[in-house]
Amino acid sequence: MLTGPSGVGKGTLVRALRERHPELFLSVSATTRSPRPGEVEGEHYYFMTLEQFEALIQQKELLEYAQYVGNYYGTPRAAVLEKMDQGVDVLLEIEVEGARQVAHTFPEALRIFLLPPSEEELKNRLVGRGTDTAEAIERRLTRAKQEIRYAPEFTYRVVNGELEQALQAIEAILFPLMR
Ligand code: ADP
Ligand code: 5GP
Repeated sequence: MLTGPSGVGKGTLVRALRERHPELFLSVSATTRSPRPGEVEGEHYYFMTLEQFEALIQQKELLEYAQYVGNYYGTPRAAVLEKMDQGVDVLLEIEVEGARQVAHTFPEALRIFLLPPSEEELKNRLVGRGTDTAEAIERRLTRAKQEIRYAPEFTYRVVNGELEQALQAIEAILFPLMR
Protein backbone atom coordinates (compact mmCIF):
# COMPACT_ATOMS: atom_id res chain seq x y z
CA MET A 1 0.00 0.00 0.00
CA LEU A 2 1.33 3.37 -0.99
CA THR A 3 -0.10 6.37 0.82
CA GLY A 4 0.88 10.02 1.01
CA PRO A 5 -0.40 13.54 0.48
CA SER A 6 -1.64 14.71 -2.88
CA GLY A 7 1.22 15.93 -5.06
CA VAL A 8 3.95 14.04 -3.19
CA GLY A 9 4.58 11.89 -6.27
CA LYS A 10 2.62 8.66 -5.67
CA GLY A 11 1.40 8.41 -9.25
CA THR A 12 4.85 9.14 -10.66
CA LEU A 13 6.50 6.53 -8.45
CA VAL A 14 3.83 3.91 -9.14
CA ARG A 15 4.29 4.41 -12.88
CA ALA A 16 8.06 3.98 -12.58
CA LEU A 17 7.67 0.98 -10.30
CA ARG A 18 5.34 -0.75 -12.74
CA GLU A 19 7.69 -0.15 -15.64
CA ARG A 20 10.43 -1.94 -13.72
CA HIS A 21 8.16 -4.58 -12.23
CA PRO A 22 5.35 -5.28 -14.70
CA GLU A 23 4.33 -8.31 -12.64
CA LEU A 24 2.85 -6.02 -9.98
CA PHE A 25 -0.91 -5.54 -10.21
CA LEU A 26 -2.09 -2.01 -9.61
CA SER A 27 -5.65 -1.90 -8.33
CA VAL A 28 -7.82 0.56 -10.28
CA SER A 29 -10.00 2.53 -7.88
CA ALA A 30 -13.54 3.78 -8.26
CA THR A 31 -14.11 7.49 -7.74
CA THR A 32 -16.78 10.15 -8.01
CA ARG A 33 -14.10 12.71 -8.98
CA SER A 34 -14.24 14.02 -12.55
CA PRO A 35 -11.51 12.81 -14.89
CA ARG A 36 -8.51 15.08 -15.39
CA PRO A 37 -7.40 15.68 -18.96
CA GLY A 38 -5.65 12.54 -20.16
CA GLU A 39 -7.14 10.24 -17.54
CA VAL A 40 -8.61 7.09 -19.04
CA GLU A 41 -11.67 5.23 -17.74
CA GLY A 42 -10.66 1.82 -16.39
CA GLU A 43 -6.96 2.67 -16.48
CA HIS A 44 -6.56 5.52 -14.00
CA TYR A 45 -9.94 5.15 -12.29
CA TYR A 46 -13.45 3.88 -12.80
CA PHE A 47 -15.21 7.23 -12.90
CA MET A 48 -18.77 7.14 -11.65
CA THR A 49 -21.68 9.07 -10.23
CA LEU A 50 -22.40 9.28 -6.52
CA GLU A 51 -25.36 6.92 -7.04
CA GLN A 52 -23.18 4.33 -8.74
CA PHE A 53 -20.57 4.61 -6.00
CA GLU A 54 -23.18 4.27 -3.26
CA ALA A 55 -24.48 1.14 -4.98
CA LEU A 56 -20.97 -0.38 -4.75
CA ILE A 57 -20.91 0.42 -1.02
CA GLN A 58 -24.37 -1.13 -0.54
CA GLN A 59 -23.40 -4.26 -2.43
CA LYS A 60 -20.22 -4.56 -0.35
CA GLU A 61 -18.12 -4.55 -3.49
CA LEU A 62 -15.45 -2.27 -2.05
CA LEU A 63 -12.53 -3.49 0.03
CA GLU A 64 -12.30 -0.01 1.51
CA TYR A 65 -13.49 3.47 0.70
CA ALA A 66 -13.10 7.00 1.97
CA GLN A 67 -14.07 10.57 1.25
CA TYR A 68 -11.32 12.85 0.10
CA VAL A 69 -11.83 16.60 -0.45
CA GLY A 70 -15.44 16.21 -1.52
CA ASN A 71 -15.30 12.96 -3.46
CA TYR A 72 -15.50 9.25 -2.77
CA TYR A 73 -12.65 6.89 -3.61
CA GLY A 74 -12.68 3.11 -3.13
CA THR A 75 -10.95 -0.14 -4.02
CA PRO A 76 -13.04 -2.73 -5.88
CA ARG A 77 -12.76 -5.90 -3.85
CA ALA A 78 -13.12 -8.63 -6.49
CA ALA A 79 -10.07 -7.78 -8.63
CA VAL A 80 -7.80 -7.52 -5.60
CA LEU A 81 -8.92 -10.86 -4.12
CA GLU A 82 -8.65 -12.57 -7.49
CA LYS A 83 -5.04 -11.43 -7.93
CA MET A 84 -4.14 -12.35 -4.36
CA ASP A 85 -5.58 -15.84 -4.96
CA GLN A 86 -3.30 -16.13 -7.98
CA GLY A 87 -0.32 -15.19 -5.83
CA VAL A 88 0.15 -11.87 -7.61
CA ASP A 89 1.45 -8.92 -5.58
CA VAL A 90 -1.15 -6.16 -5.46
CA LEU A 91 -0.35 -2.48 -5.17
CA LEU A 92 -2.90 -0.04 -3.72
CA GLU A 93 -2.37 3.71 -4.03
CA ILE A 94 -4.83 5.05 -1.47
CA GLU A 95 -5.21 7.72 1.18
CA VAL A 96 -4.86 7.35 4.95
CA GLU A 97 -8.41 6.32 5.94
CA GLY A 98 -8.52 3.60 3.30
CA ALA A 99 -5.04 2.38 4.25
CA ARG A 100 -6.26 1.92 7.81
CA GLN A 101 -9.21 -0.15 6.67
CA VAL A 102 -6.98 -2.36 4.53
CA ALA A 103 -4.49 -2.79 7.38
CA HIS A 104 -7.40 -4.04 9.48
CA THR A 105 -8.44 -6.58 6.81
CA PHE A 106 -4.90 -7.57 5.81
CA PRO A 107 -2.56 -6.93 8.77
CA GLU A 108 0.33 -8.42 6.79
CA ALA A 109 0.08 -5.78 4.04
CA LEU A 110 3.14 -3.56 3.62
CA ARG A 111 2.30 0.05 4.35
CA ILE A 112 4.47 2.81 2.92
CA PHE A 113 3.90 6.49 3.57
CA LEU A 114 5.48 8.90 1.12
CA LEU A 115 6.60 12.23 2.52
CA PRO A 116 7.50 15.41 0.64
CA PRO A 117 10.90 17.00 1.33
CA SER A 118 9.00 20.07 2.63
CA GLU A 119 5.51 21.60 2.64
CA GLU A 120 6.73 24.21 0.22
CA GLU A 121 7.95 21.61 -2.25
CA LEU A 122 4.59 19.81 -1.96
CA LYS A 123 2.80 23.00 -2.96
CA ASN A 124 5.26 23.55 -5.81
CA ARG A 125 4.54 20.07 -7.13
CA LEU A 126 0.77 20.51 -6.91
CA VAL A 127 0.97 23.85 -8.69
CA GLY A 128 3.52 22.50 -11.19
CA ARG A 129 1.33 19.51 -12.06
CA GLY A 130 -1.21 21.98 -13.38
CA THR A 131 -4.24 19.72 -12.95
CA ASP A 132 -6.04 21.42 -10.07
CA THR A 133 -7.60 24.82 -9.50
CA ALA A 134 -6.08 27.12 -6.86
CA GLU A 135 -9.00 26.26 -4.57
CA ALA A 136 -8.54 22.50 -5.04
CA ILE A 137 -4.82 22.88 -4.32
CA GLU A 138 -5.57 24.70 -1.05
CA ARG A 139 -8.00 21.95 0.00
CA ARG A 140 -5.47 19.27 -0.86
CA LEU A 141 -2.73 21.09 1.10
CA THR A 142 -4.98 21.37 4.15
CA ARG A 143 -5.72 17.67 3.91
CA ALA A 144 -2.00 16.97 3.37
CA LYS A 145 -1.10 18.56 6.70
CA GLN A 146 -3.66 16.34 8.45
CA GLU A 147 -2.46 13.24 6.61
CA ILE A 148 1.22 13.77 7.38
CA ARG A 149 0.38 13.51 11.08
CA TYR A 150 -0.54 9.88 10.46
CA ALA A 151 2.83 9.03 8.92
CA PRO A 152 4.12 7.44 12.18
CA GLU A 153 1.34 4.80 11.90
CA PHE A 154 3.00 3.43 8.79
CA THR A 155 5.61 0.68 8.87
CA TYR A 156 7.74 2.45 6.28
CA ARG A 157 8.23 6.14 5.52
CA VAL A 158 10.00 7.28 2.39
CA VAL A 159 10.83 10.89 1.52
CA ASN A 160 10.29 11.56 -2.17
CA GLY A 161 13.10 14.05 -2.68
CA GLU A 162 15.13 12.76 -5.57
CA LEU A 163 12.89 10.42 -7.56
CA GLU A 164 15.39 7.65 -8.27
CA GLN A 165 16.40 7.46 -4.61
CA ALA A 166 12.79 7.20 -3.48
CA LEU A 167 12.13 4.54 -6.09
CA GLN A 168 15.07 2.49 -4.88
CA ALA A 169 13.93 2.85 -1.26
CA ILE A 170 10.49 1.51 -2.22
CA GLU A 171 12.01 -1.33 -4.22
CA ALA A 172 14.12 -2.29 -1.20
CA ILE A 173 10.95 -2.51 0.91
CA LEU A 174 8.91 -4.45 -1.64
CA PHE A 175 11.70 -6.71 -2.86
CA PRO A 176 14.11 -7.07 0.06
CA LEU A 177 15.98 -9.94 -1.57
CA MET A 178 16.82 -7.93 -4.67
CA ARG A 179 19.86 -6.32 -3.18
P1 ADP B 1 0.40 12.29 -6.47
O1 ADP B 1 0.05 11.09 -7.34
O2 ADP B 1 0.99 11.89 -5.16
O3 ADP B 1 -0.72 13.27 -6.31
P2 ADP B 1 2.07 13.04 -8.76
O4 ADP B 1 2.77 11.74 -9.06
O5 ADP B 1 0.97 13.47 -9.67
O6 ADP B 1 1.58 13.08 -7.23
O7 ADP B 1 3.21 14.17 -8.71
C1 ADP B 1 2.89 15.55 -8.52
C2 ADP B 1 3.86 16.39 -9.34
O8 ADP B 1 5.18 16.30 -8.77
C3 ADP B 1 3.98 15.95 -10.79
O9 ADP B 1 4.05 17.09 -11.62
C4 ADP B 1 5.29 15.14 -10.81
O10 ADP B 1 5.91 15.21 -12.07
C5 ADP B 1 6.13 15.84 -9.73
N1 ADP B 1 7.07 14.95 -9.03
C6 ADP B 1 6.85 13.69 -8.60
N2 ADP B 1 7.94 13.18 -7.98
C7 ADP B 1 8.88 14.16 -8.01
C8 ADP B 1 10.25 14.26 -7.50
N3 ADP B 1 10.84 13.24 -6.86
N4 ADP B 1 10.90 15.43 -7.69
C9 ADP B 1 10.29 16.45 -8.34
N5 ADP B 1 9.03 16.43 -8.83
C10 ADP B 1 8.33 15.29 -8.66
P1 5GP C 1 -6.51 12.05 -6.82
O1 5GP C 1 -7.79 12.81 -6.89
O2 5GP C 1 -5.31 12.96 -6.66
O3 5GP C 1 -6.36 11.04 -7.94
O4 5GP C 1 -6.57 11.17 -5.48
C1 5GP C 1 -6.84 11.78 -4.25
C2 5GP C 1 -6.48 10.85 -3.12
O5 5GP C 1 -7.30 9.69 -3.14
C3 5GP C 1 -5.03 10.35 -3.16
O6 5GP C 1 -4.49 10.42 -1.85
C4 5GP C 1 -5.18 8.91 -3.60
O7 5GP C 1 -4.14 8.09 -3.08
C5 5GP C 1 -6.49 8.55 -2.95
N1 5GP C 1 -7.15 7.38 -3.54
C6 5GP C 1 -7.14 6.96 -4.82
N2 5GP C 1 -7.84 5.83 -4.96
C7 5GP C 1 -8.27 5.50 -3.72
C8 5GP C 1 -9.05 4.40 -3.19
O8 5GP C 1 -9.45 3.48 -3.88
N3 5GP C 1 -9.30 4.44 -1.86
C9 5GP C 1 -8.86 5.42 -1.04
N4 5GP C 1 -9.16 5.33 0.26
N5 5GP C 1 -8.13 6.46 -1.49
C10 5GP C 1 -7.84 6.49 -2.81
